[in-house]
Amino acid sequence: MATKKYAANRESDALLDEKRASMRSHMPSPFHHCTRCGTAEPRPHSEREFRCAACGHRHFITPIPAAGALVVDAAGRVLIIRRGHEPGLGLLGLPGGVMEAGETGEQAAAREIREETGLDVPLEAFQPFCTLPNQYLFQDFVWPTIDLIYLARVESFDGAQPDAAEVQEWLALPPHEVPLDQFAFPSNAESVRRLALLTSSSSQLLLKINDVSTIHPYQ
Ligand SMILES: [Zn+2]
Repeated sequence: MATKKYAANRESDALLDEKRASMRSHMPSPFHHCTRCGTAEPRPHSEREFRCAACGHRHFITPIPAAGALVVDAAGRVLIIRRGHEPGLGLLGLPGGVMEAGETGEQAAAREIREETGLDVPLEAFQPFCTLPNQYLFQDFVWPTIDLIYLARVESFDGAQPDAAEVQEWLALPPHEVPLDQFAFPSNAESVRRLALLTSSSSQLLLKINDVSTIHPYQ
């Protein structure tokens, strides 16, 4: 029995190896030269690693952390931005962006909101909501990211002044009226969809309570 199981595992491992090898051979690389010694074309070593044939330097492709927020006003409307640059120019999104070194997720989300919309949201307003994988086209390569999404309650969006370089306009909509098919990133649309589920019907009561620890985003 144990031998059979082992054999089965061996077979699936072999298939997996084959699949990985195939992925490697087709995997585009953002590294055209070794970043240490300059030798051309570091070679794929695994799904997430390229190695320099000359010096062995290892180049990794791992998720880049990004932070964003569902900013909700007292009327229950969520702040949505229309993107002012590529990727996704003219499409919808949540305020957010790539984290900087030394920042917490809350600090990154607050900074991005301030930069993109002019709104100052205090750090204590941010509550973890969900995390979702995403992809971001940057300098001809699709990088994996991990989006840290927060829920932040504010009294109003008064004073929001979009930065024209970043954002074409901002919209304040009840979560269930947000057009999810117009988003640049599926992770942002999924976050709004989960918020809409929470704010619909019986869950409405939950959102009226400031204690967001009672909210279960994954249900
Ligand atoms: Zn090298």
